[in-house]
Amino acid sequence: MDARLEAIRDTVLARNPGEGEFHQAVTEVFESLGPVHDRHPEFLEGAVLERLCEPERQIIFRVPWADDAGRFQINRGFRVEFNSALGPFKGGLRFHPSVNLGIVKFLGFEQIFKNALTGMPIGGGKGGSDFDPRGRSDAEVMRFCQSFMTELYRHIGEYTDVPAGDIGVGGREIGYLFGQYKRITNRYESGVLTGKGISWGGSLVRPEATGYGTVIFAAEMLKTRGQSFDGQRVVVSGSGNVAINAIAKAQSLGATVVACSDSSGYIVDEAGIDVALLRQIKEVERGRLKEHETRRSAVSYVEGGSVWDIDATVALPCATQNELDGDAAARLVRNGLLAVGEGANMPSTRAAVAVFQEAGILYGPGKAANAGGVATSALEMQQNASRDSWSFAHTEERLTEIMVGIHDRCAATADEYGDPGNYVLGANIGGFVKVADAMLAQGLI
Ligand code: NDP
Repeated sequence: MDARLEAIRDTVLARNPGEGEFHQAVTEVFESLGPVHDRHPEFLEGAVLERLCEPERQIIFRVPWADDAGRFQINRGFRVEFNSALGPFKGGLRFHPSVNLGIVKFLGFEQIFKNALTGMPIGGGKGGSDFDPRGRSDAEVMRFCQSFMTELYRHIGEYTDVPAGDIGVGGREIGYLFGQYKRITNRYESGVLTGKGISWGGSLVRPEATGYGTVIFAAEMLKTRGQSFDGQRVVVSGSGNVAINAIAKAQSLGATVVACSDSSGYIVDEAGIDVALLRQIKEVERGRLKEHETRRSAVSYVEGGSVWDIDATVALPCATQNELDGDAAARLVRNGLLAVGEGANMPSTRAAVAVFQEAGILYGPGKAANAGGVATSALEMQQNASRDSWSFAHTEERLTEIMVGIHDRCAATADEYGDPGNYVLGANIGGFVKVADAMLAQGLI
């Protein structure tokens, strides 16, 4: 790392103790930015990095609610409004027991660059709670969401901060959150949340967008080497929103997705995952992946273990941060891996990224490869602002254009900075320069 940047990075780490994921995300971005500061000394003079690493606002609040047995439960809510240089804060809400301030900050920090790469007018933010929706009734989830919004509403708005979904927050939760916002404010403000239902201000393609976009990005990477998804053997981690739609898109392009996972284990289906059955079990019944075993004879279920033990030519990590480590990366590379497209945020550890890069694997980092979700959220905001509703085909076409554009911008930036094919460098520099220019233009804020 450039010595000037290392000193700033060390201060950031010391000011934010115990936030390991945030440290990891900051370090990874800083490692790319030395050459930019050689060309743009004004970024150092303007303290852009110091400002970028300090969120504009961090909100932490109590979320009290009553479970079905009438017992009082207390969770912690977070919203980190990281950077509004390019537009209102924008980023999802995550409901998962592992959520803490460091995780929300890593996600919010990544979101700044991701949103800049989309070319849409959106800043970066993220939020969530340590609430675990798994095993909770619809009524419990509703009461939790209503309590969460009873504090959050005062900090968000169409021109201020526009949350969406992430792990544990899908259409059901966005519905309860939107209903409570409307009730408290007495405003039908469609643009305050994205990921809404189609009949009440949502956008077609938003549910599919992150998974589809990840595959479109990976397909563009493969194209640079004269390859495509057709005939590839693909392994996907996770079996939530992003994973299911990545599987569907990859298979529509001729790949065979042979395995996917949840936090309990993974399934292998050499004939290709049955997406309709997967949607039925995970989205309709809210069941576990294990239930596949009894419903499709070709499927074998492995309790525990790592889905990365299964060989693949294309790996699409779509579950969570740091789920793919250096050993798993080395094993995949030894067994014929060509490309990695990250549907999840920061799913590869730093050691895994180093293995992929040293082996010359096509590696698309999450902040570029999974930007299709937030980009389509921005398309949802556009439709809300114009009180319009676009067709599936038109919206999918816009998503494809945006993903190809992000790919090309990352590739061109990597070329410009003398490291062709380095999508990490391309994404970090491409996102950073846009935000840094806007921050300088807006003065010391
Ligand atoms: P979902 O809640 O729909 O699904 C999450 C999936 O990942 C589930 O299969 C879950 O398994 C698994 N998972 C979650 N946490 C862990 C863990 N600690 N260990 C192992 N498996 C885990 O979330 P999404 O599909 O929306 O999000 C997945 C990833 O994609 C996240 O990294 C998210 O930040 C990222 N992302 C999502 C976007 C979106 O539009 N939704 C946009 C951009 C990025 P289980 O059910 O067992 O918990």
